[in-house]
Amino acid sequence: MQHTGQTKKEIRQPGKSRLLRSLHSFSGISAPLLHDRALRMRIATISLLTLLAALAIIFGSARVARMIYHTDQTMATHRLVFEINEFIARHFDRALAYLATSPQIRSACMGSRTAAGNRDLFNMLVTAQGTLDASVVYVLDASGTVIGSSPYGPGRTLTGRNYRSRPFFLQALAGQTYHGAIFGTITDEPGIYFSRQVLSGKGGDPVGVVVIRVSMDSINSFIHNTLNGNQEAMLLSPDGIVLTASREEWRFRTTRLLPDWRKNELVKNRQPGEQILKPMPFLLKNHLVHYNGKDYIVDIQAVELPGWHVVTLQRVPYPFTVVLILTLLTILAGGMFAFTTLSVHRELALTEEVRLGRAERKKAEAARLETLRELETILAASLVGIVLVRDGLITTANARMTAIMGYTLAEMIGKNVQMFFPGKEEFRKFVRMYARQLAQRELEHIEYQLRKKDGTVIPCTLSGKAIAAPDLSQGVVWVIEDITERKQAENELEQARRQAVAASRAKSVFLANMSHELRTPMNGIIGITGFMLDSGPTPDQRKRLELIRTSAGLLMRIINDILDFSKVEAGRLELEETPFSLRSALDGVIANLDVQAREKGLTLTVNVEDQVPDILIGDPARLMQVIVNLVANGLKFTPAGEVVLRISRLKDLGPDQVSLLFEVRDTGIGIAPAKREIIFEAFAQADSSHTRQYGGTGLGLSIGRRIVRLMGGELHLDSEQGKGSRFWFSLPFAVARPDDFPEQESVAASGCPGGPPDNLVGHILLAEDESINITLAVTLLEDAGLTVRSVTTGKEAVRAWQEEEFDCIFMDIQMPEMDGYEAVRRIRELEIKKGGHTPIIAMTAYAMDDDRGRCLEAGMDGYLAKPINRSGLLELLGRFLAGGRDD
Ligand code: ADP
Repeated sequence: MQHTGQTKKEIRQPGKSRLLRSLHSFSGISAPLLHDRALRMRIATISLLTLLAALAIIFGSARVARMIYHTDQTMATHRLVFEINEFIARHFDRALAYLATSPQIRSACMGSRTAAGNRDLFNMLVTAQGTLDASVVYVLDASGTVIGSSPYGPGRTLTGRNYRSRPFFLQALAGQTYHGAIFGTITDEPGIYFSRQVLSGKGGDPVGVVVIRVSMDSINSFIHNTLNGNQEAMLLSPDGIVLTASREEWRFRTTRLLPDWRKNELVKNRQPGEQILKPMPFLLKNHLVHYNGKDYIVDIQAVELPGWHVVTLQRVPYPFTVVLILTLLTILAGGMFAFTTLSVHRELALTEEVRLGRAERKKAEAARLETLRELETILAASLVGIVLVRDGLITTANARMTAIMGYTLAEMIGKNVQMFFPGKEEFRKFVRMYARQLAQRELEHIEYQLRKKDGTVIPCTLSGKAIAAPDLSQGVVWVIEDITERKQAENELEQARRQAVAASRAKSVFLANMSHELRTPMNGIIGITGFMLDSGPTPDQRKRLELIRTSAGLLMRIINDILDFSKVEAGRLELEETPFSLRSALDGVIANLDVQAREKGLTLTVNVEDQVPDILIGDPARLMQVIVNLVANGLKFTPAGEVVLRISRLKDLGPDQVSLLFEVRDTGIGIAPAKREIIFEAFAQADSSHTRQYGGTGLGLSIGRRIVRLMGGELHLDSEQGKGSRFWFSLPFAVARPDDFPEQESVAASGCPGGPPDNLVGHILLAEDESINITLAVTLLEDAGLTVRSVTTGKEAVRAWQEEEFDCIFMDIQMPEMDGYEAVRRIRELEIKKGGHTPIIAMTAYAMDDDRGRCLEAGMDGYLAKPINRSGLLELLGRFLAGGRDD
């Protein structure tokens, strides 16, 4: 349907079909019909035809009226003509012929005038006058003198008068019968003159003329008797002069223009006087004349008098009422016709619509059946259970649903959905929790326990959708999945995860223990070698002792590398965020490397650009570890030439944020392209001979790369075999203001600047179960001038503390009976009652990062990682004996 389009069209052309719209509102026919083009044309044609018919009525009815009236008029004209012919022309002609041939008149004309003859003549003329109803009848002799006349008034006679120049005499004497309307010379009144010659005998000479003069009144009475109220009439002479008429004012006026000579002639002959020979108010040229605001049709007919005509005028009134009624009827008929057309069209349109609707419905029904079939197939093939529930009862379910729940379809249909739940309470709980939600939105993957037919309870996910939310009465479709297998897999996965966590934890513990176990003897070896070197050995002994110390040092590095690597692997390497001086930190490590360089005859150049800020925030120890490793590698793999460490400012990352570029370049053996990635892997070296030739474990770069990544950078390598290598990385750093950077005191036990104090005074308690470590520490402390009491368990340590006053306690963590943490806790508790505070320094081979935190948490004041080195121990001790604290 195109309702929208048509409505738009109507809005666009508001005045276009006003007629159709009014018809529409009148007939109640729907607007779309009026926009049918063919229909519009039809309605327009009907309207046009109606209009034409109305116009035809308006204009044609005048013509019809004229035709109708014309019939009346012709009859009137005929009657007048008949009257005039019959009673005037023929009548007077006959009378004239009789008189002209009568012996009395002939003899009178021929001059036989006797008194008796005169009397007979007179009597005859009087009789003729009376019979003919003429105004006068008289006889003239050949000279034009009246020889006998009937009286034309009481006692008045024309006898003796001479009319020889008058036309009625001249024409009649010449042998032509005269008929004419002229004015009498005596009466000065108009009359119609009939005259005829009198012959001396048959075929004889003219001897006189007989004249009958008739007054106009006779003709006027004819006219008045014949006409009705709407008619006028007139008698015209051959010159077109009105001899008489129904209207007096028309008499002797001309109906056509007369030439002057004719007018003069007529006047001379005393024909109609000049004063009244004026033209009529209308000329009789047309069939229709307009006079006094009225229309008249003209009918002209000739009478038997030559040149004479009777003219009738018929007034034709305009038939207003008839026209009005006919016009209205026509418009009404047109309207009815248009209305019928519209109705018929509507009927047809409706029929068409119904037909289309039926076809559509058929199509829709076919489509619906198709969809239904498709849906049924989908339902049947679905891998999830689908069930339709209406009013709590199962309406339908698919095959998968029967498979999940173990019921047949027949067992489910019409049953309460509660049958799927393990119990009433579970079902109620489910309804309580989800019914309201379901009315508002779809529910997705709710995990719930359902009960199968065989009683097994299985974990399922339920997704629900109301067919016509929020009205749940129309039904809810549930999609149900059996997730038993998934749950099992999840459980297994969770178990595996737990096992993995436990394994990882075990690995960490193992590493910590291993490290402890390895460091403790190393501690002893390095320490004792140190003492022996200090105790004045022979040059030979010194050489061997130094060899022992170097080997032990290497071994210690390997142990440290493995420990670091394990930490990185376990994800337990944590970075510090502390302000530090980059240049001071470099100073602390470069000195040693410089010694190595010199020993090998190489140049080590350190170039820190001025733009590089000095105080940064980060982990100085780990940064130095990476740098030392790269520089040491450079020195190791460079037989001759130089190693350059360059630090430059790459770019600013924001206010107080910089990116620094670290490069270590050497002129050494270089690395083959194929090996450039491998060497970053753990325990990998570019060449298997390198272990033998240069030593090393192949862990340094692997640890370095991971540390750089943790710091937010990437360790890269450019190298040319035989020419040298360039390791570089860039790192972001926050720049600290110098005020943020406190005066650095000693941070850790190993390698503190400033060196240990020379002489210390104090009484020290050493709690340590390893005999080598005891010997080492006691010797070291006593050498420094301190007195030492040594115990081997935590319990003994607590007892010793109770017995004696100590200036400081060195506490091992792993001890039999009572470990270091517990011993410290006890001491701190006792201190609360007793008062005072004895500094306690933890000595531990647990070199994991969280060990330090744990020690401080347990109430210790300082922390010393094994293996103990002399300067570290004494420097830290010096601070505590002076009242400091390792924070
Ligand atoms: P290690 O040095 O302990 O073997 P590293 O991970 O530091 O372990 O180095 C791995 C290997 O990479 C080295 O054995 C060496 O083959 C190669 N390598 C590292 N640095 C350089 C260097 N500057 N020049 C040449 N080869 C190098």
